[in-house]
Amino acid sequence: MIALEPSVEELERMLAAIGQRIISHLATIAEQPASDLQTLAPEAVADPPQWGRPLEETLDTLFRRVIPPGVNSAGPGYLGFVPGGGVFSAALADLIVKTVNRFVGLRFMAPGLVRIEWSVIRWLCQVVGFPRESGGILTSGGSLASFIAVYTARRNRLPADFLNRIIYVSDQAHVSVRKAAQLAGFPPANVRTVASDAWFRLDLSALEAAVLEDKARGLHPFMIVASAGTTNTGAIDDLTAIADFAAHHGLWLHIDAAYGGFFALTPEGRGLLCSLERADSITLDPHKGLGLPYGTGCLLVKDLNTLYRAHSMGAEYLPANTELHELPDFYDISPELSREARGLRLWLPLQLHGIQPFVDHLVEKLRLTRQALAELAQLPGIELAAPPALTVLAFRLVPSADGDPDAASRALLLRVNARGHVFLSSTILCGRVYLRMCILSFRTHSEHIAAALRDIREEAAQILNQTQR
Ligand SMILES: *Cc1c(COP(=O)(O)O)cnc(C)c1O
Repeated sequence: MIALEPSVEELERMLAAIGQRIISHLATIAEQPASDLQTLAPEAVADPPQWGRPLEETLDTLFRRVIPPGVNSAGPGYLGFVPGGGVFSAALADLIVKTVNRFVGLRFMAPGLVRIEWSVIRWLCQVVGFPRESGGILTSGGSLASFIAVYTARRNRLPADFLNRIIYVSDQAHVSVRKAAQLAGFPPANVRTVASDAWFRLDLSALEAAVLEDKARGLHPFMIVASAGTTNTGAIDDLTAIADFAAHHGLWLHIDAAYGGFFALTPEGRGLLCSLERADSITLDPHKGLGLPYGTGCLLVKDLNTLYRAHSMGAEYLPANTELHELPDFYDISPELSREARGLRLWLPLQLHGIQPFVDHLVEKLRLTRQALAELAQLPGIELAAPPALTVLAFRLVPSADGDPDAASRALLLRVNARGHVFLSSTILCGRVYLRMCILSFRTHSEHIAAALRDIREEAAQILNQTQR
């Protein structure tokens, strides 16, 4: 049994045992099935015993029975939803941070770790082109970042009674935006859904019509959420035109760049994402485009004071914070007090690998998408939803004559995933079922896309054959 404070020998044994498991897990990650939906073993998850179990036995259960079932979202074949991967150096950063367990909610408690986190946030501000007075906060994910954004906008711009204020989102906006609005106190009726165009970008004339109609009804437009890469198809809204519109009508502009934001690191993406810096606030998800482990989201604001105004709150047991300082107290600019030191999870990978490997990975994903597009477009019966702006391909299978495209597309998804090489997900566009292939993991390379295309080609041919007979 291991003591709460293990001896040096026990520490060495634990680290060695866990190190060995982790290394063999990572060494075989490409061979592990992309999904394993059959072998759930609920009895593998035991209740806490009164006295501890042996480490090896526990690790065995964990790595053999608990971790394998489900979808291998860290593997190279993971092309469903929005992948990331999980850069290993970030896991080491977490091990360090959770071992030293310093408190980063107040800067005097851990000025070094606070400075590291702030330097990472400053770098993220540069990535999106934000000015010096910008800032932000690392969150557990994009959903929390968007929640803080809507709350911050509300607290900065609106009076206590804000129920006649309207938030505009496109019909392609991520569901987390709607949830953020609800969490921030806006009833569903205060969130206006605006149509998107043929490329799934927010339709500006529909936006204008909605805003004018609301104004005519005595309501007050307040905020617009644009997408820099939608989850459905990767579409990028016309950020320049929306920024102009927001400025003209005095709306807070939030840009959801959870999926697409880090493409701003690439020359091609920088052009596609121009005007990102005109937002009042931006959601980024390092656990997507930067390939970091889950639990790494970010909210950036163009004016750091907006975060202070929304969150700063004193208490008699906390040090009064009157003088300005180059480093913020994270407690003052976010909802959390006690929390993990998230900054090292970005800082260590960026220090150890440098920025360039991340840029190269994203450039590779854009190239792989173009190659996959060229091949998919050749396949009989395959129909693309729209040309991809970034690295999401949405497509469906249309059997000839009187076949049912929704049923055929659903069958194709099930059959491709059942092969276990890759995992794709699906969505509904214009009322029709589409498969989605999102190429974003740093572990995904051309051989994995080739495997995906082979499986799609072979299974689609079989389905077409069967429906024609
Ligand atoms: C993933 C995603 C989100 C939600 O982020 P989480 O980190 O999953 O909470 C929001 N918007 C877009 C466009 C996304 O792709």
